[in-house]
Amino acid sequence: MQKPLILVVDDDPAVRLLCSETLGQSNFIVKESSNGIQALEIIDEITPDLILLDVIMPEMNGFDACSLIRKNAKFEHTPIIIMTGLEDIESIDKAFDAGATNFITKPINWTVLSHNLRYIHRSSTVLKELHSSEQRNLEIQKELRDQQIALDHMAHHDALTGLPNRILFNEHLTRAISISIRKGQKLAVLFLDLDDFKWVNDTLGHHVGDELLKEFSKRLNDALRSDDYVATADDNIITRFGGDEFIMILSDIKDEFGPCAAAKRIIESVKKPFIFSGREFHVGASIGISIFPTDGDNAEMLIKNSDVAMYHAKSLGKNNYQYFSEDLNNTVSNRLDMENKLRSAIANDQFFLLYQPQINIDNGNISGIEALIRWNDPETGLISPVDFIPIAEDTGLIMQLGEWLINEVCRQNREWQDAGYAAIRTSINISNVQFERQDLTGVLSHILEAYNINPELLEIELTERIYMANPERTSKILAELRARGITIALDDFGTGFSSLSYLRHYPIDTLKIDRSFICEINVSSDGEAVIEAIIQMAHAMKLKVIAEGVENHKQFEFLKQKNCDSVQGYYLYSPLPAEKIEELLRKIKPINNSL
Ligand code: C2E
Ligand code: CA
Ligand code: CA
Repeated sequence: MQKPLILVVDDDPAVRLLCSETLGQSNFIVKESSNGIQALEIIDEITPDLILLDVIMPEMNGFDACSLIRKNAKFEHTPIIIMTGLEDIESIDKAFDAGATNFITKPINWTVLSHNLRYIHRSSTVLKELHSSEQRNLEIQKELRDQQIALDHMAHHDALTGLPNRILFNEHLTRAISISIRKGQKLAVLFLDLDDFKWVNDTLGHHVGDELLKEFSKRLNDALRSDDYVATADDNIITRFGGDEFIMILSDIKDEFGPCAAAKRIIESVKKPFIFSGREFHVGASIGISIFPTDGDNAEMLIKNSDVAMYHAKSLGKNNYQYFSEDLNNTVSNRLDMENKLRSAIANDQFFLLYQPQINIDNGNISGIEALIRWNDPETGLISPVDFIPIAEDTGLIMQLGEWLINEVCRQNREWQDAGYAAIRTSINISNVQFERQDLTGVLSHILEAYNINPELLEIELTERIYMANPERTSKILAELRARGITIALDDFGTGFSSLSYLRHYPIDTLKIDRSFICEINVSSDGEAVIEAIIQMAHAMKLKVIAEGVENHKQFEFLKQKNCDSVQGYYLYSPLPAEKIEELLRKIKPINNSL
């Protein structure tokens, strides 16, 4: 066994000499140092197994030297024995506080010293071994754990792209399906196969093929990341299914058009050339789409049907996508046609407005008119706003359309005023999408000013959903509009989720009771009671009430009896073209044209 190395630190040369002598004889190798600072330098170079420290020394005392040595990780477990000249408790306490292992008192009993030190050394060696084997155990455990994790990852991921593999995908899809069932959501499975990948692999080699797959999986990730239809985007939605096959889950899709937008973006991203070692390559992608629950209620069916749809896409030519269901393919292609037509309709000015009078129930006067948009398509004829407003919203075209509408309403209003007719208040339907994305206050102020229209002649109609979506922003904008004199009506009241008391916090002037309630008049007494309650509560909140969709005399009479303020509906007037409104205006004497 190697001889233990001991460092003796003492400013008294006699003590050092005696230590060297006695300990040397007892098979210790002794290194000497005359003060603490020097000792610290020495232990930089040698690693003693034991340190013997005097307390009172010039420059640095034994306590300070002891705590500095202990701070060095190398000496964390090395026995340090402090030699105190004084047998006082205080310095013994101090020695232990400084991290000493033990102490011996001076004068030193030389015969006992080497026995003492050998005992201390031996026990410290045993302790050290124990400690290191414990350490080793922990290391082994960690290694095993890391290996397990790595193996697990390998078993569930594709080595080349790092994407999840089939096994993991099945788990994810099964889980995504059960979440969709629980939440009543739809999801889409996209099956993608690269076009011409085999050619790249065969002619340019596997190395190029591998690079291409890696680069492609990155593009795929980017194309899906930006997708607002992937509500539950996590790292596992994309899977490498086989050689050049990829499969994706889009969870919580709003409608069937979401996956088609994602597929289009993927195809666009593949169209850009791939460049490796200065050469350009082109590939394409064929995508098949299956939808849960329509095209299957389990993972296997959805995968199989998306695969079938992918083959269909390939057969129709490359860089293409197809839904599994033919109905959906038709719906989507009609929708795309509609989108394109809508774009050109805006460019070609194919829209016009009808105006439906709102009648004051007490005196029968026109209290205002509501502008309702129409699309006159040269091929199809008149298209209802119910059919094209949602598309305009999804495509963002509603912003242009909405601005056109505000402009047209103000232009018409100015024309009537200039012709000497009584100024009439016009209501404009504002889409939630327009409200959320546009600076409505800015747009309205600008147009009102351009036509020199009193803002009090404008009312905007919003639906309840706008209050739910972003309450703070909504309140702020409504307050701004109100401050400018524009009035606010809550459209389709009763069809949303909000209660009257909830709406108390918002600035609203008018409540429009939805037609679905008015239909209940004379049909259901419960329905009638609800209408009556709405009118009473609205009046308590100082709101005016308009009933929408009044179609007959009985409804009119009921509403009159219940003190509804105004009515709108076929019973009185259908939506009318501007000329017909002009005829009505002609009958009204201009009372206050400053309005
Ligand atoms: P809305 O705002 O609730 O408009 C009332 C709808 O009820 C209008 O349909 C109107 O023609 C119809 N209507 C009026 N009286 C009666 C009646 O007595 N019985 C029945 N059954 N219906 C009646 P329209 O013009 O087809 O508009 C439908 C919806 O499209 C509107 O519902 C509104 O949400 C939207 N819309 C119409 N014009 C615009 C617009 O300029 N901008 C925006 N953002 N949306 C518009
Ligand atoms: Ca309306
Ligand atoms: Ca309405």
